[in-house]
Amino acid sequence: MKTKKQLQYPEYKYVLANIVENSNEFTLPSWLIVKELWSKTKFSDQPTRNKEISTKIIACSKKLIQSSKKDLIYYQFLQKDLKKLAQILKSKYPYTGNTRSLVKIGEKCLPVLAKEMGLNIKRKVNVFFVAEFPKPYNRIKTWDLMFADRNDERKYGIKEGIYVHKERQFPLFCEFLIIHEYVHFIVRSNSKRELSSGHKWIEEGLADWYSFIAHFRLFRSIDNLVFFKKVYQIYEKNFPRSPLAEYSQYDRAIKRLYLWGGHEAVKKLVSKYLQNPNSSRWSRLYRNILQEKSDIISVANTKRPGDRLNSYLLTLHEKVDTLNISAVEYLILNELNMKVQKCMPYKKIRYLLSIKEKVFDDAISRLEGCGLILKKENNVILNDTSSSLLDAGAIKPVYYGTK
Ligand SMILES: [Zn+2]
Repeated sequence: MKTKKQLQYPEYKYVLANIVENSNEFTLPSWLIVKELWSKTKFSDQPTRNKEISTKIIACSKKLIQSSKKDLIYYQFLQKDLKKLAQILKSKYPYTGNTRSLVKIGEKCLPVLAKEMGLNIKRKVNVFFVAEFPKPYNRIKTWDLMFADRNDERKYGIKEGIYVHKERQFPLFCEFLIIHEYVHFIVRSNSKRELSSGHKWIEEGLADWYSFIAHFRLFRSIDNLVFFKKVYQIYEKNFPRSPLAEYSQYDRAIKRLYLWGGHEAVKKLVSKYLQNPNSSRWSRLYRNILQEKSDIISVANTKRPGDRLNSYLLTLHEKVDTLNISAVEYLILNELNMKVQKCMPYKKIRYLLSIKEKVFDDAISRLEGCGLILKKENNVILNDTSSSLLDAGAIKPVYYGTK
């Protein structure tokens, strides 16, 4: 082994969360930084000491730059962003979770969940803080928390309860995740057939859906919901076969149900499902929901009340995404945006940025083609919309070349 610059999976999630949280500080879009970083990162079972994470990021950055022979401008942006990321990570305190506050969140969310889901709390749930998950789940290195139900108790002798991995917690994520596990507990303990594994899409879909709702009811923060959703989207985009991406699909199904019939529809699913969790009807329902076209969404949009949470939930089907352009195009727009008049002679920009004529001409015509700039005589003009999109960080450069 030549290099040992590996991140443990939970550390990787921590880095990812920081990229999303600080997305305005970076030139490139968050998902792209994640993708580039991922392409040079190997996973290890062992955690790193916290201060080493930023060192690893710098090492990854160096590797990436070495591998870039072609689009230099793009890689300059990338290097700048990774340096920034390393700086951000360095300035953070160690991220060992605050276990006491997690337990508190768990206790508080239980009555909220019961009310939202229309269910009862049947018994006390145990929360265990462990250095290692109980066998056979100790082999799974990607989980931060888990819920063991009575099925696990029977099969593996694991006590029913929520297991929190001591070393894999970090802010915000674990808040959602512990509520997610509590949803599993409520569902399992209310199920007529407790000793069945149920349908994954419903069990996981509900756990995610209600963790969102309960988190909002407890903390009243839409920003946190947006953050969590963005992390999910990046997962889906970059790692389509990861468990989180799979969960996004389940989320989509529950969300459609909500858009169709509001909270009542989801609640109805809960009660019907619990009566007969093993029915094959649930697989059919899943297929049917996913096959529905967007008309469900348009029907629902007209009748939902304008409460803050509801209006957020309604936007979930829209993709929160940036407008992607090439690195050269981004440089040109940025140069224009810095000018008071947002206008510059064609030749002067090319001279200032020292871009090859052919590349420059192509970039200008693409920018003109998608309405981001106007050409007037010998000048290039940036319109107000482009300028405000740039300021909001909604236009980001990506690499279009082949590697
Ligand atoms: Zn789950």
